Amino acid sequence: MEVLTTVAEMQQLSRSMVSRGSSIGCVPTMGALHPGHASLIKKSAEDHPVTVTSVFVNPTQFGPTEDFSSYPRSLDRDIKIVAENGGTHIFAPSVSEMFPGGYSTEISVGAIADVLEGASRPGHFAGVATIVCKLLNAMLPHEVYFGQKDYQQTLVVRKMISDLLIPVRVSILPTIREQSGLALSSRNQYLTSEQMLKASTIFKALAEGSKIIKQGATVYAKEVELAMQTILGLEADLEVEYAVCVDPHTLAVMEQISKSRGAALLIAARVGSTRLIDNVIIEAQ
Ligand code: AMP
Repeated sequence: MEVLTTVAEMQQLSRSMVSRGSSIGCVPTMGALHPGHASLIKKSAEDHPVTVTSVFVNPTQFGPTEDFSSYPRSLDRDIKIVAENGGTHIFAPSVSEMFPGGYSTEISVGAIADVLEGASRPGHFAGVATIVCKLLNAMLPHEVYFGQKDYQQTLVVRKMISDLLIPVRVSILPTIREQSGLALSSRNQYLTSEQMLKASTIFKALAEGSKIIKQGATVYAKEVELAMQTILGLEADLEVEYAVCVDPHTLAVMEQISKSRGAALLIAARVGSTRLIDNVIIEAQ
């Protein structure tokens, strides 16, 4: 497993692979890899002879009171997981490599980045869009893989890639979950086993919301939101930030759910001091 740490060596490797006829898949991550990340690496490895996994805890997407310094870091373990899943390279640059002194450009994606996570975490998506753009310019992949777990992030990144004409294909893969339904997340490491159980209420609420939509002939977004909030409200130690049923393309508020458009059910909640997000998407029919 080759671990590259500079942008220059990363770009050189990608260019030489391409000149030898290899296609390149890449999986941007913040490390502390789990089976959710592994599913993306595995798919890229099936699709491309070269799969680069980036491991970079990006300071610019964390707010001043968030967990940047305590975010789990485990590069040695990550290297093993990447290898076990068919990844060929890791790109693990330092913060100063990605943000050298004097750096000032930032990508602002617009409306899709301002609601929900964007409203709760000001500046978060500018940080995400900018680092994804920079990582793509360093790894020069043909295809980039993201998880549906971070649904709004997939919309923000797709918009940035499309608006900036970045020549890369985007693939979004399903959320990998614990048996309880809890979405795997590097931040689950912060939870006790009791908190893990409480956190699984988030998926129970999403499952109930999606059941109501699938079973009803005429369904209003408000009734789905109320049903999700009721289930979340039964778990006293869960502090709900939002639990919404919105348009899956724009994240705009909807009144009645249209089968031809589908819906996005999105929840953010805290268990203790750990903030978790999850979603279920009802596909258009
Ligand atoms: P992160 O390391 O949290 O920035 O995540 C890196 C990538 O892995 C993102 O595209 C995430 O959406 C994806 N990811 C995180 N958790 C999961 C999961 N449980 N299932 C599938 N993909 C995931």
